[in-house]
Amino acid sequence: MKRTKITDLFKPEYLGKEVCVMGWVRTRRGNKHVQFVALNDGSTVKNVQIVFDMTQFTDEQLKPITTGSSIKVDGVLVESMGKGQSVEVQAKSLEIFGTADPENYPLQKKGHTLEFLREKAHLRPRTNTFGAILRVRSALAFAIHKFFQERGFFYLNTPLITASDCEGAGAMFQVTTLDLNNIPKCDDGKVDYSADFFGKPTALTVSGQLEGELGATALGAIYTFGPTFRAENSNTPRHLSEFWMIEPEVAFFDITDNMDLAEDFIKYCIAYALEHCKDDIDFLAEHYDAELVDRLKFVLDNEFVRLTYTEGVKILEESGHKFEFPVYWGADLQSEHERFLVEEHFKKPVILTDYPKEIKAFYMKLNEDDKTVRAMDVLFPKIGEIIGGSEREENFDKLSKRIEELDIPMKDMWWYLDTRRFGTVPHAGFGLGFERLVLFVTGMTNIRDVIPFPRTPNNAEF
Ligand code: ATP
Ligand code: MN
Repeated sequence: MKRTKITDLFKPEYLGKEVCVMGWVRTRRGNKHVQFVALNDGSTVKNVQIVFDMTQFTDEQLKPITTGSSIKVDGVLVESMGKGQSVEVQAKSLEIFGTADPENYPLQKKGHTLEFLREKAHLRPRTNTFGAILRVRSALAFAIHKFFQERGFFYLNTPLITASDCEGAGAMFQVTTLDLNNIPKCDDGKVDYSADFFGKPTALTVSGQLEGELGATALGAIYTFGPTFRAENSNTPRHLSEFWMIEPEVAFFDITDNMDLAEDFIKYCIAYALEHCKDDIDFLAEHYDAELVDRLKFVLDNEFVRLTYTEGVKILEESGHKFEFPVYWGADLQSEHERFLVEEHFKKPVILTDYPKEIKAFYMKLNEDDKTVRAMDVLFPKIGEIIGGSEREENFDKLSKRIEELDIPMKDMWWYLDTRRFGTVPHAGFGLGFERLVLFVTGMTNIRDVIPFPRTPNNAEF
């Protein structure tokens, strides 16, 4: 018989029918007359109850069914008398795919801490919590493509291996095939990269933006969605060494268009998850974050507050609040500052714009004041920065001047400046860290818990 996914069993058309279910056993309980197995197959957070009438099965047959074992059951789907479930499968035949020795299977009892599960990341997708998170993550990824595709954006794949060393977004992981125990050297003692695979130093990308601009100034509107690598040694609950970033880039857009896009985009993704991942979000709310659904709806129902960095700093200075890091005009805002504005002051998501040029990237468009650039950071409750973006400097001379001022090595970046040399246009874009969005939507508090196999300093297990 063809397998039915557990998620489909709750649809009315299966009631009273013969079904075949396969999955992993969560629990088995009962007595010598009847045994109950809670079975999960990953298709939904809900388990289906399998009922074994012990006049038709032997103890010997059911003995290997322990938590974590995998089975196949043919039976009839009937309405359930018991509490906690609407339907159950009355087993007719049983096949055991694999056992899970109770002495060794690590996910025995319920209620493991998230910290414990991080050390069991190879198995944690089998828990209700990670099943829910991973299904929400998948739905959000789909929503992202859907949002952009529906609006005529083209999906552009930018390279993961890059030779540009001036992106400035963070420390990079070098990519090399040189023998590290026997590094070829030039006469001046420096590494001879001409002997390396690409004939020059290369690294994993920290952002697809620069190539994204090449796409946007040809196709009009693009988005990237791919892995991003940052070798920053920051062990925070919001930073990964390998994360996924979504970077739309749009020709003929100014910063206001960019803010509108960012706000529409985030709201679309949250609304999509609320609509399509109800069971999973409800599960996570029940077990981890009672205010989750209200917080998600609150973001949908409210316009994001838009104000300049200068206004934001003034509010922080006048707040009288004692921050760990000092706040003054020119300071890079820390997460505590961002969260104060969002959670304490406005109590709404905030878009801060027009940051001092010194603390932002070289490619951002300079304002008339010659001091600030058209940057925009979207700040969220519990997360801080979720999006960073800007209108880009499209003027060749101004961009070149900035590159000179900052002494940025542009030798390998001649191609980027060609966008400004030939048919330059105003354009803007932003980057959303996918895991920060998943954090927000799942109500989790540590970014290590919203990516299947996290990469962080000193951790590349699994
Ligand atoms: P932060 O100030 O939080 O370190 P950033 O200013 O370095 O972030 P950007 O370079 O603007 O971030 O990158 C765009 C987006 O990518 C950020 O808004 C954030 O959502 C995400 N992001 C940046 N660094 C990381 C990281 N190490 N892990 C996960 N997401 C990240
Ligand atoms: Mn930032």
